[in-house]
Amino acid sequence: MAAIPFTLQNSYARELEGFSVPWRPEAAPEPKSLFFNASLADELGLDAAALAGEAGTALFAGNALPEDAEPIAQAYAGHQFGGFSPQLGDGRAVLLGEVIDRAGRRRDIALKGSGRTPFSRGGDGKAAVGPMLREVLVGEAMHALGIPTTRALAVVATGQPVLRETVLPGAVLTRVAASHIRVGTFQFFAARGDVARVRQLAEYTIARHDPDLAGTPGRFLALLERVCARQAALIAQWMNVGFIHGVMNTDNMTLSGETIDYGPCAFVEAYDPAAVFSSIDRHGRYAFGNQPGIAQWNLTRLAEALLPLLSDEPEEAAAQATAVIEAFPAMHARHLLAGQRAKLGLQRVEGADEAADAALAADWLALLHAGHADFTLAWRRLADAAAGADAPLRALFADASAPEAWLARWRERCAREDEGRAVDGTAAGEARAGRMRRANPWVIPRNHRVEEALAAASDDGDLGPFDRLLDALRRPYDEIAENARYAEPAPAEVTACYQTFCGT
Ligand code: AMP
Ligand code: MG
Repeated sequence: MAAIPFTLQNSYARELEGFSVPWRPEAAPEPKSLFFNASLADELGLDAAALAGEAGTALFAGNALPEDAEPIAQAYAGHQFGGFSPQLGDGRAVLLGEVIDRAGRRRDIALKGSGRTPFSRGGDGKAAVGPMLREVLVGEAMHALGIPTTRALAVVATGQPVLRETVLPGAVLTRVAASHIRVGTFQFFAARGDVARVRQLAEYTIARHDPDLAGTPGRFLALLERVCARQAALIAQWMNVGFIHGVMNTDNMTLSGETIDYGPCAFVEAYDPAAVFSSIDRHGRYAFGNQPGIAQWNLTRLAEALLPLLSDEPEEAAAQATAVIEAFPAMHARHLLAGQRAKLGLQRVEGADEAADAALAADWLALLHAGHADFTLAWRRLADAAAGADAPLRALFADASAPEAWLARWRERCAREDEGRAVDGTAAGEARAGRMRRANPWVIPRNHRVEEALAAASDDGDLGPFDRLLDALRRPYDEIAENARYAEPAPAEVTACYQTFCGT
């Protein structure tokens, strides 16, 4: 057996008895490395050079674990499309353990697609190459965009076929997360009336994610506040890059505030709050514009699970939790506006009229919606407008004069901040354009490009398109000629038919 060059910790398994079952991954018959994230390995303090070789492939396939590893499958529950499932859990994943990264943070290392577990229900415990590489592309893109996310450390093809609608090549993803504690983890014990375990989990979560709250009175309410704050910030970032998660079930919402579970996710092309691409989301529950409301709904489920910890007085507990949950929309709106201001090139926000700026942003989005304009390109070309070139932006609209009135308003707002100096073609305009190009990506994981890369990898074993797309996604703000094809919108007829699948 190959020597594995790192040791794992097991705080979740050791400190939380009854929250998981010891479980080992299935061995892959013919492991072959498809992707290895050397810079992430390095960030984790691991020996990237050693892991890039055979020993790493054996480890990431689940074939050769460190001798003292205590892998587990975690228990959780969750609301799926609004209906409660008391028993979900890691049906195709195992948590290998934890490492302390170079910055001193505890990070989970888990395998996904590593075979059946006691939580598999009807599933086969497997994953296919396409969806696991998709998780790499979108996760790395989100990371490059500065959005908190779990990350892919490796993908190994197993050499074993997986049966879906067709036969697909199987794969195992190695996922790194701040933790895998989900809203659904709390629900699992709350639904069983096991308040002691809910409390234990809350204490563990505080120690891991909000250690400054440890031992303080009122810490459980403060934990709820922190989680709400992290999610408010996270969802605002999603909304500002056009990310549609696609399956915001409570088991897919983390306490850490990281995006998790890139199943049927997609990016909005022409701006539309009603955009939904998931094949199983028939009623548009998880449509683009619904995400802040759904986040609040999910957080309400977390609040319910925490109620017995907040106060012995049920009414008092409910009042406290309700106040926190009701503060969510305003908190989300603040984060959204902060992001929008940066995207609009506004930096003097102290004392600026919040309502007026929010209306300016909302009217911009309404303009994009009415004109079926590409969300990503429109923001990007607004930067060109700041530098004095309106034509590229106008070209996104069937009626090139559509943005005129709004542009005039925006320029007035910019001029106020520049204290009357003209906006366009001036040093102030150029500086604004530069700032805007660092706030508005040029390249995002466009659905048709992701599909193209995954099809080549999965159908033909050709990783070239995947590697090139990944490269472009890692530099989302750089306008590089050779990446132009990744910046182009998909043809409207492609987007109209585009469907994503859970990849299970
Ligand atoms: P997801 O929709 O991917 O978040 O998964 C929801 C639940 O289904 C989780 O408990 C997963 O572990 C489980 N699951 C998803 N795919 C499979 C599979 N192929 N085999 C077993 N369990 C699965
Ligand atoms: Mg999930």
